[in-house]
Amino acid sequence: MPSEIKPHYQVVVIGSGYGGSIAASRMARSGLKVCLLERGKEFRPGEFPNTEFEAAREISITLPELTIGSSSGLYNLHVDEDINVLTGCGLGGTSLINANVAIKAEPRVFECTCWPKQIRNDIHTLIEEGYTRAQEMLMPRSYPDSYPALAKAKALEKSALDMGYPFYKPELTVTFEAFKDGINHVGMNQEPCVCCGDCVSGCNYAAKNTLAMNYLPDAFNFGAEIFTQVSVSHIAQKDKQYEVYYNLLHEGRESLHTQETFL
Ligand code: SF4
Repeated sequence: MPSEIKPHYQVVVIGSGYGGSIAASRMARSGLKVCLLERGKEFRPGEFPNTEFEAAREISITLPELTIGSSSGLYNLHVDEDINVLTGCGLGGTSLINANVAIKAEPRVFECTCWPKQIRNDIHTLIEEGYTRAQEMLMPRSYPDSYPALAKAKALEKSALDMGYPFYKPELTVTFEAFKDGINHVGMNQEPCVCCGDCVSGCNYAAKNTLAMNYLPDAFNFGAEIFTQVSVSHIAQKDKQYEVYYNLLHEGRESLHTQETFL
């Protein structure tokens, strides 16, 4: 309950997408007092929209000047002059509605001089270590041969081969093999994929390895306090602390004080 938000934390994480969830997990594991604030709602398997009508109620469109629809709608389309982006708004961020593809960035991405030298120096050390950790938690797997053949994959394979390019099946953050007793590595119930194809509207079968199935419960297991439907407007430095200003959606505005070091 948002009423349980404490006045002080060592770490306040804003948002529960990949950046926020991983930060919350790592900080909580290191023993820090962590609070995570998420604007969207929590969706459990079985609660994702299953009809056009249900989906329509979860659409919000963010224009430069205003937002149309619920500010905590699951499907949040950002429309701007140069680029439009569809993001997920909910506990787990866009992991709730992405297509599950998990591939490493090509080396040239991090070699670009637009990155600080400190990051480029870590390409073969800390960044590789980060990939390994992320793989352990997100558990990406290629679509198994034991699953039904997919017409689209066959067509893509044919296209690639006809054009002289190699074809491979990228890894997906989906559970294909049953966990022992149905409980995954952080204590969440997960079931094998049933191939319903609803990954980008939300998995109702507990098969998609969203952040709500791994990093977020891991953070919670290590003491992080997680609050949904809390919309942060801005942060401000005050003396040696930072204040985080937020709206409890539909319930007015409060402020929260945090230690300086971690924001
Ligand atoms: S069960 Fe359906 S929605 Fe879930 S991962 Fe498999 S195909 Fe995607």
